[in-house]
Amino acid sequence: MIQIGWGNYKGWDDTVTMKILFPVSEAVPFAKTGGLADVAGTLPQALARLGHEVYTVLPLYRHVRNTGVGLNSTRLKLSVPLGNQVLSAEVWEAQTPSNGVHQYFIQYDPFFDRAELYHNAEGDYRDNDQRFTFFCRAVMELGITLGQSWDIIHCHDWHTGLIPVYLKTLYAHETVYRHCRSVITIHNLAYQGLFPRESMSYTGLPDSLFSAEGVEFWGRLNFLKSGLIFADWINTVSPTYAREIQTAELGHGLDGVLRQRKHELSGILNGLDYTIWNPQNDPFLPIHFQPHELERKQELKAELMEEQRIFAIKDAPLVGMISRLDEQKGLDILAEAAETLLNLNMHLIILGTGTRKFHEYFLHLKSKFARKLAVNLAFNNELAHRIYAASDMFLMPSRFEPCGLGQLIAMRYGTIPIVRHTGGLADTVIEFDGKQGNGFCFQEYSGHALVNAARRAFDLYQDKDAWQKVVHNAMQADFSWERAAGEYHVLYHRLREAAAATPGA
Ligand code: ADP
Repeated sequence: MIQIGWGNYKGWDDTVTMKILFPVSEAVPFAKTGGLADVAGTLPQALARLGHEVYTVLPLYRHVRNTGVGLNSTRLKLSVPLGNQVLSAEVWEAQTPSNGVHQYFIQYDPFFDRAELYHNAEGDYRDNDQRFTFFCRAVMELGITLGQSWDIIHCHDWHTGLIPVYLKTLYAHETVYRHCRSVITIHNLAYQGLFPRESMSYTGLPDSLFSAEGVEFWGRLNFLKSGLIFADWINTVSPTYAREIQTAELGHGLDGVLRQRKHELSGILNGLDYTIWNPQNDPFLPIHFQPHELERKQELKAELMEEQRIFAIKDAPLVGMISRLDEQKGLDILAEAAETLLNLNMHLIILGTGTRKFHEYFLHLKSKFARKLAVNLAFNNELAHRIYAASDMFLMPSRFEPCGLGQLIAMRYGTIPIVRHTGGLADTVIEFDGKQGNGFCFQEYSGHALVNAARRAFDLYQDKDAWQKVVHNAMQADFSWERAAGEYHVLYHRLREAAAATPGA
């Protein structure tokens, strides 16, 4: 695994502006199901501030139209091959370019004008293979139509995994891509885009690529693996996760591929958009606060607890949890620990949606601890902001966590994370030792270890001075996008230099 490091970026002409194509399946404020959208909404702006020309490309989902963000037709039309057909797509652009980033949308209503991004109540949309093959191909066509000489295509997760393959095969001789290098960032290795062999027929790629060294994964087409094999560089969203995905335990079957490419693999920690997540001016909060005004945070806590009908117990902390309700997030160990925790001096508020079994579980728990526990089974951004701000502690007992944004947001609001030591959680949360540190961590994946870490936090909470210290440490921590964008900037420069040094490139 390579450490990119922002500090050592001098050594090439740093003023060179690069043209970066940034295809992604979701981005705030247009469409969001998870942390990927936060990254894709913010990183391009930070790259633009470093002088790069960034062009984001998203599918034109129904969600995008519903956000109320104005779109203009570019009048560009794309002819996109898909299997035996050539489909006609239109290209739209956000009316107000956001801080210098060009934001394009591919319109093809039969694929994208749907209630959700990826699935309905029965599960994943059955034609996701066609939808995202189409999207990848449309991005390649858009790159040609825009006529720029691209330096970098930065892909994200399985939805864009075929793009690096196209760049090295069907589009290798296109003038606009002559010097172009591809990067794929893994935001979550668990989602790979696995489809039957027959899905190859939509891609237009030669059958010879369907092999263990190519796009095949145990008899199926694997979009993410395709990207990992063909991209010029693989990146993920924290240094620890970059190491973990090379192990059988957290490699989701792709650890071998990743080990083979370990010299072209990095981990760059995500940043946080401090213009959105800021306790001093957050529009979703009725009261704002700074690190020296923690009594105002207590007012928010009292208000939220009243609204959520939690019965306030004197000197008891409010623990928040905002999460997809998915196995990854450590809900089985939370279930092991929950009753013990709720019998301690604490309150708990949950906000999340996901698997039905977890919905049922939390409703059951609520029926047993009605006065201490609030359960909100919804996706609610406004409530999320208020929970981050009002809680004393924030729980993330994840089985694995590529980076995690929840703990970064929580810290910004002086809400102390209690986390399992894995992935990006391990890189950002340091156990408080009385002086240094910003949270509480546990290693072993068990309810017992979770309870022990929570007890340490609850004990410290009773010591007001010590608690103030840990809160200050958390609020001072710097997880800005400037650092992260700087590391991507270094990475792009390295790839560009390598491209320039390649004969014939
Ligand atoms: P992941 O991408 O695995 O879901 P992250 O911690 O990286 O996890 O990012 C999750 C993002 O989604 C955070 O911004 C979090 O606040 C938000 N989020 C998760 N669940 C909800 C919910 N039910 N309502 C509102 N926001 C949510």
